[in-house]
Amino acid sequence: MSVTQVAAYAAPAAKAPLERTTVPRRPVGEHDVLIDIKYAGICHSDIHQARDGWGEGIFPMVPGHEIAGVVAEVGPGVTRYAVGDRVGVGCFVDSCRACEYCRRGQEQYCVKGMTPTYNGRDKEGEPTYGGYSTHVVVDENYAVRIPEGLALDIAAPLLCAGITLYSPLKHWEAGPGKKVAIVGLGGLGHMGVKIAAALGAEVTVLSQSLRKKEDGLKLGASHYYATNDETTFEKLAGTFDLIVSTVSAPLPLDAYLSLLKVDGAFVNVGAPEEPVSLNLFSVIAGRKTLAGSSIGGIPETQEMLDFCAEHGLGAEIELIDAGQINEAYERVLSSDVRYRFVIDTATI
Ligand SMILES: [Zn+2]
Ligand SMILES: [Zn+2]
Repeated sequence: MSVTQVAAYAAPAAKAPLERTTVPRRPVGEHDVLIDIKYAGICHSDIHQARDGWGEGIFPMVPGHEIAGVVAEVGPGVTRYAVGDRVGVGCFVDSCRACEYCRRGQEQYCVKGMTPTYNGRDKEGEPTYGGYSTHVVVDENYAVRIPEGLALDIAAPLLCAGITLYSPLKHWEAGPGKKVAIVGLGGLGHMGVKIAAALGAEVTVLSQSLRKKEDGLKLGASHYYATNDETTFEKLAGTFDLIVSTVSAPLPLDAYLSLLKVDGAFVNVGAPEEPVSLNLFSVIAGRKTLAGSSIGGIPETQEMLDFCAEHGLGAEIELIDAGQINEAYERVLSSDVRYRFVIDTATI
């Protein structure tokens, strides 16, 4: 089979609105699956990259790394999937497969760098195109199974937002008897609340204001505090075993670190573009950890999907047509979404 052109929504140049076009998909190779994409989530980083906020973007760019669909064709060497299987693709579609992290299933930390699902280049040097499209061809080892009982539309955002929160919550052992705070209640944060609560932790949301308090409690939080209220930091001093920050605005780190118990960890999954500063006594006193975490590997992403299916968890979504992508971008930038836009790719 030869290269096929498939319909997609792409940014033709940095900062240009996305428009309908076609992009090439490689032939289905020995170990590839062709996925009929059903839904694609809109991640904040799609907007950054389509607008070239991080520089060196490859255009035209088809964003989308929260992909849910159905296997439409399999290569002759494929063993993990069959036509008709429900599958997902997250933030990367390949890695070196040989380094210690790849061998451990932590491909997100591949020493040679993973191949991003879009705005990257594959091993042949061809640009990768993401999920705002009708089809994608992916090596079977970089797809995950979406369990029955988990609808594809609410599963799509789990492939980035879900795993980004699940991985640190598991690594730092959120669970019964643990007090966990999630900073920011957006696309990432709302999944953090759901997953941490399902893991059995006592969950607190720390948000700028109390505007989304009702939602936060409904999603599984036991407590909700406004960080624009100075007394919050006095009241909660020394409270948490784990704080996961999903916000990309610079935070007063010393103040947040003061909310941890001895041996507590403050983990960033959102990051401001500018360097931050802190007083190191904030971690020395109380033997605290300041850390970061990036998405998750393929085995852990599968574990997360199985966990979410078992606990009946999906993202809270607003389903849109492809023609609404540009408008959705504006709404994400003004935090006007509860809590993830998902594109119905049948409308592309
Ligand atoms: Zn993402
Ligand atoms: Zn590797």
